[in-house]
Amino acid sequence: MNPETKNCLTCGTQFTIETEDIAMLERLDIPHPGECIFCVWRRLLAFWVFGKFRKTKSALSGKTIITTFGENVKFPLYDRTEWVSDAWDPMSYGRDYDFSRPFFEQFKDLRDSVPHPHQAGTNNLRSEWCDDVWNSKDCYLVRSLLDCENLHYGYRNFRCKNSVDIVFCFDTDLSYDCLYCLKCYKVRHSFDARDSIESAFLYDCRNVQHCFMCWNLRSKQYHILNKPYSKEAYFSELQKYNLRSRKVVETLKAEFSRIIAREAIHRSDHMVKTASSTGNFLEECKNCYNCYFLQYAENNRHLFRGTYVKDSMYSIGTIAEKGVYSIIDDYNYDTRVTLHCSRCRYSSYLDYCEECEYCFGCVGLRKKKHSILNKQYSETEYNNLLAQIEEHMRKTGEWGRFFPYSLAYSGYNFSVANSYFPSSKEQIEKLGGIWEDPHGVVTEGVHGNELPDSIDDVPDDMSQKPIVCPKTGWRFNIAPEELKFYKTHGIPLPRHHFDVRILELFKPLTAIKPLEGSCSFCGKKMTHYYPSEWGYKKIACEDCYHKEVL
Ligand SMILES: [Zn+2]
Ligand SMILES: [Zn+2]
Repeated sequence: MNPETKNCLTCGTQFTIETEDIAMLERLDIPHPGECIFCVWRRLLAFWVFGKFRKTKSALSGKTIITTFGENVKFPLYDRTEWVSDAWDPMSYGRDYDFSRPFFEQFKDLRDSVPHPHQAGTNNLRSEWCDDVWNSKDCYLVRSLLDCENLHYGYRNFRCKNSVDIVFCFDTDLSYDCLYCLKCYKVRHSFDARDSIESAFLYDCRNVQHCFMCWNLRSKQYHILNKPYSKEAYFSELQKYNLRSRKVVETLKAEFSRIIAREAIHRSDHMVKTASSTGNFLEECKNCYNCYFLQYAENNRHLFRGTYVKDSMYSIGTIAEKGVYSIIDDYNYDTRVTLHCSRCRYSSYLDYCEECEYCFGCVGLRKKKHSILNKQYSETEYNNLLAQIEEHMRKTGEWGRFFPYSLAYSGYNFSVANSYFPSSKEQIEKLGGIWEDPHGVVTEGVHGNELPDSIDDVPDDMSQKPIVCPKTGWRFNIAPEELKFYKTHGIPLPRHHFDVRILELFKPLTAIKPLEGSCSFCGKKMTHYYPSEWGYKKIACEDCYHKEVL
């Protein structure tokens, strides 16, 4: 088998199908999607909802629920505890396979009629305004958390607490406005800081304390702009920066970005303890080709975000083995095209199913076997019908393919895809996708830009005032606990809606296009991930980075 060169069916870009891709596709018995990997991921990520939080009622009990599903979803939303109960039967939505219609159309009809849980996540305490949050307590308006406590706003954090506006952080406490920080305490406005305390504006620092506007530092304390100070001089110098003012913070942020572009040494990639792999942000991975944001993964190709994944391909946000198009699943084995499924095996085209085996085209099932379109069959009937369906789907061109954009749960503009591949309404509609008009746009309230500049001038009743985001017109409030956090730590009020802040903070992690360049130190050719518009002057190969950053 030789590598094949093709033009992407969606964007026209030329791309190569590697020999190993062909082998894996054959092994998994699926056709090549015909698209370049960015178009594949874009479509998969369009199925990952990043919606606005809203209040609605459970269609089963009328109980008030908080969801990030938009108002346009056709399926009924049940409170999650009701959804997993015996109060309803997903099999009552079962139907016969219709050989006169395409499968995707039939699947969509079923998907749109079967109730869905209002949010993902279990075992939380006092955390109603959350989504995809697990084993956490006292969290508010956050998404994708595990084992967290007392977080306000944030996305994809593990074991973090008492923090506001943090994204992709691990084991971090009392921190604010941080991205990709690990084991930090009282750190602010930082990116890629580890084992650091009581510092602000850090970039690629390890084990630092009392450092301010520093980059590439290792095991240092009392540094400002990478220059050492005595303890007394450090604190007296710091007095010159009024961090209680939003204007000052924004000016420093802009200044720090310019310094980072000019002075900091940027490692070509962010791989940690990873072998024989390509991509970026891999931690303890082996034999992963073109994969991003994975931990503890092995033998995968073209994966995007996941943990403990093995022998899988074209999947996002997954924990799976032998999965293809496994979307936000956990512990699946040998599955194809599964979305939000848990512990399912030997199955294809499932949506929100748990512990199912040998099922095809089912929605919302738990502990079922030999079901097709939510209808029960004997093992023999199942195998016979599945063979006929396969034949039918090969004719319609659907067999082994992922869903089209039209089946997404939300508008593209309220999906994770829009962060990595920002698009216009016209572009999405051309792809057959959905665009959602944002709800909750208001004009009445304090305009974000009119808020007091200094935290010292913020009245105690600020939490009761609606604020209008200057960028989106979305209404937001300063929560009482949040205000207490800002006052305690001397942090000025934010200006924008929390989702706008989180998406803005997240941006540096959305640069996923590999770029060919050469090491700024030794001239060696290498792949890196820093777009030219960032203007980074010093990009180092792995060896030079370790030589230069001590
Ligand atoms: Zn493409
Ligand atoms: Zn080099």
